[in-house]
Amino acid sequence: MSKPRFIVVGGGLIGVTTLYELVSRGYDAALFEAEEDLALGASFANGGMLTPSMPDPWNGPGVARHLFASLFDPRSSMKLHLSQVPSLFSWGLKFLAGSGRARHEAATLANYRLCARSLDRTRALTKELGLEFDQSDRGTLKVFESEAAMAGPLALAQRLAQEELRFEKLDAAATVAREPLLAPIADRIAGALYFPDDGVGDARKFVLALAEKARELGAAINLGARVNDLILREGRICGIVQDGKEHLGEVVLCTGVWSPELAAQLGQSIPVKPAKGYSLSVDARALGNRMPRVPVIDDAMHAAVVPLGDRLRFVGTAEFAGFNQEIDQVRIDNLISLFERLYPDLEGSIDLSDAKPWTGLRPMSASGQPIIRQSAKEGLWLNCGHGHLGWTMACGSAEQIVDLIYEKAYRP
Ligand SMILES: Cc1cc2nc3c(=O)[nH]c(=O)nc-3n(C[C@H](O)[C@H](O)[C@H](O)COP(=O)(O)OP(=O)(O)OC[C@H]3O[C@@H](n4cnc5c(N)ncnc54)[C@H](O)[C@@H]3O)c2cc1C
Repeated sequence: MSKPRFIVVGGGLIGVTTLYELVSRGYDAALFEAEEDLALGASFANGGMLTPSMPDPWNGPGVARHLFASLFDPRSSMKLHLSQVPSLFSWGLKFLAGSGRARHEAATLANYRLCARSLDRTRALTKELGLEFDQSDRGTLKVFESEAAMAGPLALAQRLAQEELRFEKLDAAATVAREPLLAPIADRIAGALYFPDDGVGDARKFVLALAEKARELGAAINLGARVNDLILREGRICGIVQDGKEHLGEVVLCTGVWSPELAAQLGQSIPVKPAKGYSLSVDARALGNRMPRVPVIDDAMHAAVVPLGDRLRFVGTAEFAGFNQEIDQVRIDNLISLFERLYPDLEGSIDLSDAKPWTGLRPMSASGQPIIRQSAKEGLWLNCGHGHLGWTMACGSAEQIVDLIYEKAYRP
């Protein structure tokens, strides 16, 4: 029997981890990426946080009320733009259907299990392959202004503790003991939840390093290679068309927010929509030994300040604004004010004039869970819709899709 061949479409976190998983298990695989380099989409400058501690989908109970109010609030942390309502209609109904308590809890649990498995796999690969991507493993701190604000996340952490999530509930003094740079705001916070097993790392650096390892194992990586069509023969997908040329093989679609495009040609609908987010990356070498050590998440603002090597990355906000990737300075200013609110003593200590603003589109599935399965057509596999957790889930999702491929008896 000839060796099965796989074509991975999309060269972000999900595509490259899938490619590596395929070739490391002995499959013959090639990747096609539309852009001139890898990880220029959502995986470019994301928050960098590896957080099984945040597995809850965004369509939690009360989300409908929140989104409706956001139509009239330009500063809302999760904002729906009126112009997007028609295009979000059918996806939105599914998104809201998942916001009932029981469904949301089930999705949270499933996400947590995948995140935890994925983080183990990320760490194992990092060690085994000697990958460097500004990683560190000091956990994350989620800070709260009041006990009332902490109640929901604390209840979630307590539920997930039954699944082995480790956490500590800290009062303001213990929070400062964990991150002394928070001392100036000790009187403004009720405390924090500390998740010791979370990690951070630069997702793009990880993608580039892992892609190199995949190449060493024989993977072909084609850049500037937009896939235009899927080839359907005798009811099954048997390859792709790129620049007028056919390439044959089973196809794994890892195209993030663009995943619905190719599948739509087959009349298949993939319920994924873009949720725009922002980051601002800042050279923080000037801080010297005053560099924050632990990523701090401000629960009220749904935003974070994340140390990544000698940089700080401020990250947050979610907007349903279609595929618009324009940078709105108000959103960037919000991220800067988050930093100044968390670390008032560091205000003015770093040069923000050179900071790099970025927006990316999170591929949000309607269910809040990633789509990792064979499609309705044989020969086409889906690994997409990882939303706000694509970095955390990437290695685990790759393992999961290749397990499915293997179970289908496509043995290398
Ligand atoms: C602001 C922000 C902060 C985030 N923070 C975190 C975080 O802290 N932790 C976390 O876990 N996750 C985070 N995420 C989520 C995470 O970044 C995404 O879930 C993840 O990057 C999705 O990866 P992907 O490979 O599916 O998509 P992408 O990285 O977008 O890759 C898809 C690729 O497919 C290519 N493509 C599309 N169509 C075609 C075609 N026809 N032919 C060839 N190539 C094609 C695109 O060019 C693109 O490179 C964040 C996201 C954002 C936007």
